[in-house]
Amino acid sequence: MSDEISQESEVTRRSFLKTTGAVAAAAGLAMTGLAATVRQAEAACGEMPKKWDETYDVIIVGTGFAGLSAAIEARHAGAEVLVIEKMRTHGGNSIINGGEMAVAGNKWQKEAGIQDSPELFMKDLLKAGSSLNHPELARTIAEQSGEALDWCQNFVGARFVKLVFHGGHSVKRSVQTDNASGSGLVNPLFTKAKSMGVKFQFTTKMERLITSKEGRVVGLEIRKGYKFPDDRSGKASFVKARKAVVLASGGFSQNVELRQIQDPRIDSRFDSTNHPGATGEATLAACQAGAMDVQMDWIQMGPWTSPDEKGFGHVPQFCERLVGYGPMIDPKSGRRFIQETGNRKVRADAMMALGYPTIIFGDAVNVKRQVLPHTLEKGMANGAIKKFDTIEELAATYGIPLAALKEEIAKWNSYVEKKKDPDFNCKIFPETTPTVAAPFYACRLWPRVHHCMGGLVIDKNAQVKGFNLKPLKGLYAAGEVTGGVHGAVRLGTCAMLDCVVFGRIAGKNAAKEKNWG
Ligand SMILES: Cc1cc2nc3c(=O)[nH]c(=O)nc-3n(C[C@H](O)[C@H](O)[C@H](O)COP(=O)(O)OP(=O)(O)OC[C@H]3O[C@@H](n4cnc5c(N)ncnc54)[C@H](O)[C@@H]3O)c2cc1C
Repeated sequence: MSDEISQESEVTRRSFLKTTGAVAAAAGLAMTGLAATVRQAEAACGEMPKKWDETYDVIIVGTGFAGLSAAIEARHAGAEVLVIEKMRTHGGNSIINGGEMAVAGNKWQKEAGIQDSPELFMKDLLKAGSSLNHPELARTIAEQSGEALDWCQNFVGARFVKLVFHGGHSVKRSVQTDNASGSGLVNPLFTKAKSMGVKFQFTTKMERLITSKEGRVVGLEIRKGYKFPDDRSGKASFVKARKAVVLASGGFSQNVELRQIQDPRIDSRFDSTNHPGATGEATLAACQAGAMDVQMDWIQMGPWTSPDEKGFGHVPQFCERLVGYGPMIDPKSGRRFIQETGNRKVRADAMMALGYPTIIFGDAVNVKRQVLPHTLEKGMANGAIKKFDTIEELAATYGIPLAALKEEIAKWNSYVEKKKDPDFNCKIFPETTPTVAAPFYACRLWPRVHHCMGGLVIDKNAQVKGFNLKPLKGLYAAGEVTGGVHGAVRLGTCAMLDCVVFGRIAGKNAAKEKNWG
């Protein structure tokens, strides 16, 4: 925000709060009635620039799956589209993700004889989300998953090659890109958008949404030449959005102060899997312009990261391919402690309750069959995944009591033979074999902050709702910046789907808006 405008807004805001805001607080009306009026009035206070530096039909903030999907659809509908990105390159969390997307009833499931449907998918979403999911939003992604995959492959040109399982899903239903990375979709999306004439501006940060007196979103104040994370870098500029703004700015997992406001447990002792720019200031800017937020305190910990490597690393792809194929062990007791194929929250909470890293391991047969060779090689090269010739060696390295561990492995193997786990009800797959063949591969696990389930409230048209419970004119949002789709726990591989489905909806609807001036 330019200094001049920021000082003016601050004075207006303070004098406003001194009168109306104080009364609202005294009456205990937080977020309702009068307090809502405070929000709307604050929104209306947004200074209009004396002159716009640039004008587009639709302006999109963020170059991840959601922003790029929105850009393509808005452009496809004939809009002149600008996408801004505060970092130097495109992709956000999307480009570093695992490239796995949940799709109910896909062709690989059919080939494997797996029965699935949007109804079953919806049931899984609600179960994981503790039914806090906004049903209309959850149903939208369940029902449109097949169409989303079709679009990604046949219109955008991404290649999905295999079927994988993720904890919490009742069947194998996730499909993975050919390079086992989100870049396998983000890069084709980016290339497609550019080829269609979408304009991109990098190192350009959205500072605030500009609203008209009536509270309609009409454009953005941006900072060009911004150098993350220096908030004073770059130069203020004003871009008018004739039709609409689409926020696709991702979550706030890297903003320790903001996440601690929402969930005080997640302090700086917990690392994050996210790209450094996942700092959430665009979400706050939208709230300041009158947008409503929801479920911001549901912040997901990824239970499959390792303290022995940085960022996301290679262990998640090792661990998630191995659940249901090898046991997870509490190193102090030598015993299993959780349903390995359970959802992320179940597993992360169990580890946080133990308070120290746990172990997952598999034998040569299961690991070779499940884990991609490059995951294994890279995880071993950085030392996070270790190879052992004997169980004795494995136990000694991690300080696990040997007798208990051997007993637990024998029990696990008997469950594998029977295809039933009476202890934790772990899903054991038809092709899972007992953990017997050397060498054994193992790693330590400790959760990291991974995903923000909460964010801006949207309706099924991807239009953002305001504090008056009505759509905020001129503002759409999609992807991790939004809340409500996933409820309490996002099922693995459903974010990518959420971004593509709601990104497309947001782009189409933004392009349909009437020009405001
Ligand atoms: C390591 C990792 C692995 C994952 N694996 C999977 C998986 O396999 N399957 C799955 O479904 N989900 C996965 N997820 C989750 C999923 O990748 C994310 O939820 C999803 O990519 C979010 O996409 P998005 O488009 O909403 O945001 P992002 O991809 O994060 O893009 C947002 C962009 O907005 C930019 N931005 C933010 N604020 C501003 C601002 N003020 N001005 C300008 N630009 C701004 C950011 O720099 C960023 O580039 C994974 C996440 C991580 C971190």
